[in-house]
Amino acid sequence: MDVVVLGAGVVGLCAAYALAHDGHRVQVLERNPEAAREASYANGGQLSYSYVAPLAGPGVVSNIPGWLLRADSPLRFRPRLDPAQWRWGLAFLRACTAEQSEETTRRLLRLSFLSRDLMRRLVAEEEIAFDLVPAGKLVVHSSEEAFAAARRLMAFQAQHGSVQEALDRAGCVALEPALRTIAQRLIGGIHTPGEEAADCRRFCLNLSDVLRERYRVRFAWGTPVRQLVAQGGRLRAAMTPAGAVEADAFVLAAGAAAPALTRPLGLRLPLYPLKGYSLSLLVADDAAAPRVSVTDAARKVVYARIGRVLRVAGMADLVGHDARLDPARLDLLVREAREAFPAAARWDRLGPWAGLRPATPTSAPILGPAPGLPNLLLNLGQGALGFTLAMASGQVVANLLAGRAPPVPMDGFDAESHGVRRRRGMTRC
Ligand SMILES: Cc1cc2nc3c(=O)[nH]c(=O)nc-3n(C[C@H](O)[C@H](O)[C@H](O)COP(=O)(O)OP(=O)(O)OC[C@H]3O[C@@H](n4cnc5c(N)ncnc54)[C@H](O)[C@@H]3O)c2cc1C
Repeated sequence: MDVVVLGAGVVGLCAAYALAHDGHRVQVLERNPEAAREASYANGGQLSYSYVAPLAGPGVVSNIPGWLLRADSPLRFRPRLDPAQWRWGLAFLRACTAEQSEETTRRLLRLSFLSRDLMRRLVAEEEIAFDLVPAGKLVVHSSEEAFAAARRLMAFQAQHGSVQEALDRAGCVALEPALRTIAQRLIGGIHTPGEEAADCRRFCLNLSDVLRERYRVRFAWGTPVRQLVAQGGRLRAAMTPAGAVEADAFVLAAGAAAPALTRPLGLRLPLYPLKGYSLSLLVADDAAAPRVSVTDAARKVVYARIGRVLRVAGMADLVGHDARLDPARLDLLVREAREAFPAAARWDRLGPWAGLRPATPTSAPILGPAPGLPNLLLNLGQGALGFTLAMASGQVVANLLAGRAPPVPMDGFDAESHGVRRRRGMTRC
């Protein structure tokens, strides 16, 4: 089959890999001149296969007023005259129940464990270099209440295959001595020894080389898709400045930009950008920088060693399609990092970056055929877990296209579960 993948972020590239493996003739259309120029550029680098609980959780609603009022809040909501933002916000609030959160965690664990297996197979078979470190992950907590909730989640996840242990303050510092500066405010942490960290952008760049050289995948760089054209209940072409690109099937992996492409087709996706920030700091003192990936749960900041770089990432801002660096948010991230690991890095070269996580209200990705357009496969909404979930998401899409059973149950992931319907009469945009 001729298959076109729209978007060369980590999600589109992993889908291209699974599709090429199945023997399809794959072409990737990407508006940027190379892979991973958007959300996949400088993310937190975490392959957090056991850290998938959705952002919408039972304790979240009571925290929201505090987060909205505090200037140094890790989450920010700037109301806009944008119905999509309000719809997303309301759906997010509706998803903040214990039942929904547990169900989504269960589903995401299945998807993430599959991703882990597929990623390990890819690394073994393709020998892709991307600074992969199996350093484990330690999520540290600063309040008794948060630590107790984390231990409950750990017990729940243990029933579903996660291998984790709870550590007290001394245990956290023994595991990661670089935490000594903030040890006084730590209550304890959850350690997941099997987690990994890596450079997502390097992964994408090297994977696109492998796809081109070994799998004959064609890439059209600098090719913005302006419209999708449907006819007779099928997607017929992607319109680019160079002309119409036709195919038997299309995989939409355009990240946060996807709703703009599907809206004229009568498909409204529950997808909104959740802006985040990162720093890529040069490590100055090896012993003062964490080796284990650390997440500071109270501040919602993650730290990962990627080669000689300490990657620091955080913030979740619901501020629309705006990926510009906000100096105040950046300062906050620098302050948090400097307070936690003061001697770890050179603070005169921050390597700042901001990106838009393509987020659904439930944190579950949207996978599978678009309603009314069976040859348009959606591969979207991996949110804060795109690097972690990309391999499995690509495999799901490839299985569905080949008519094989999906490797995980589709409940919670298919378009229907996300309430996506196609408005009638929209055949061409
Ligand atoms: C601060 C931050 C930290 C994060 N940390 C982690 C982490 O530690 N672990 C993790 O797993 N995930 C993390 N994430 C999430 C992860 O980065 C994203 O989920 C992932 O990059 C999404 O990949 P994607 O391919 O869907 O989107 P993108 O990488 O944005 O790719 C979409 C591609 O589609 C292209 N495109 C869009 N529209 C068009 C068009 N019309 N025509 C042609 N091309 C188009 C874009 O140019 C882009 O290249 C983080 C995100 C942020 C912002």
